[in-house]
Amino acid sequence: MDTRSFIRPLVRSLRAYAPGEQPKIPGLVKLNTNENPYPPSPRVLRAVKAAVDARLRLYPPPAADALRERIARLHGCDVENIVVGNGSDDLLALATRAFVEPCPTRRIGKSTVQWFSPSYSLYPVLARAHGATEGHAPLEKDFSFPSLKTLKATKTWRFDAALTFITTPNAPSGRGYGVGELDALCAALKGVVVLDEAYVDFGPEHAMALAFKRANTLVMRTFSKSYALCFQRVGYAVGHPDLIGALHKIRDSYNVNGLGQVAALATLDDLPYYRKNLARVVATRERLGRALAARGFDVLPSATNFLLVRPPGRPAMEWLGQLRLRKILVRWFDTPEIRDYLRITVGTDAEAGALLKAVHAILDD
Ligand SMILES: *Cc1c(COP(=O)(O)O)cnc(C)c1O
Repeated sequence: MDTRSFIRPLVRSLRAYAPGEQPKIPGLVKLNTNENPYPPSPRVLRAVKAAVDARLRLYPPPAADALRERIARLHGCDVENIVVGNGSDDLLALATRAFVEPCPTRRIGKSTVQWFSPSYSLYPVLARAHGATEGHAPLEKDFSFPSLKTLKATKTWRFDAALTFITTPNAPSGRGYGVGELDALCAALKGVVVLDEAYVDFGPEHAMALAFKRANTLVMRTFSKSYALCFQRVGYAVGHPDLIGALHKIRDSYNVNGLGQVAALATLDDLPYYRKNLARVVATRERLGRALAARGFDVLPSATNFLLVRPPGRPAMEWLGQLRLRKILVRWFDTPEIRDYLRITVGTDAEAGALLKAVHAILDD
């Protein structure tokens, strides 16, 4: 039997998203997936443990109401402005399904999902899985936005695209963007704009105000990176009640698991703990950047918990292998814009020290 024939041709031809490796090698310094090097707060761990009992047989709150109320309080808005997801990846997929026509029609914009390249490599996977039309525009060499004039002249960019994903601060470059330039983009785009703020807590400014100022703009946040909860899968989107309502309509009935809701709520009750650790990551990032620059690395400014660096002397792919031999795992992307770079997650000071030690050894080899 040709079991492949059961599968939609579109799905057969898909290539799945490639997550960073999660190897279990003792002593490995893992700087490849932008996880927080510091654990969740003790209060969060206590809250999760206290929730593990016979109640696991019950369904969790379907719309995460208590968590949405707490998030609404944090941002000074209404619960109708908030939807919680199984990580923000869930919400990115929901946005694709809610706002984009799956089949190209005469109005191509209606079926178009677009993004800047390079940015989060999940966006093309979501667009392809949906059967959408893909659009993109290259960022400038320094990873800044192209001007509106340049965008207008870019054939693969549409101001009438149904959905535009903007990673801000950008991944994988780490570059931060100002609220003014983001606002100008949201104003110029006719469709929905998602500002994917996964790393925003590591940078100097955020664009949450645009979720309330512009009816076409959703801001997405995640508890994964800055709040050390990757394992629990909780993210949220903020925006106009009509857009948020559309995501609620098509999400799974219980899309956020109960322990994730418990953990996220406890997190928001212990923000000072996280502010302290965010500051530590930022301080390590700046020190690590200076130390790498001193050894001849080209270090890009970062508003995130990772650094994009161009290593000296040999190709970045060779550096990846050399570092791995010394039990340091970083990320290298085989894509034209950033093939010469390594993306290094900022760990603890000790992890940064181990990385630098390996770098010195490789350079002195
Ligand atoms: C990590 C990441 C996400 C997804 O976060 P989850 O909430 O863990 O799904 C979304 N966007 C970007 C740019 C990320 O780096």
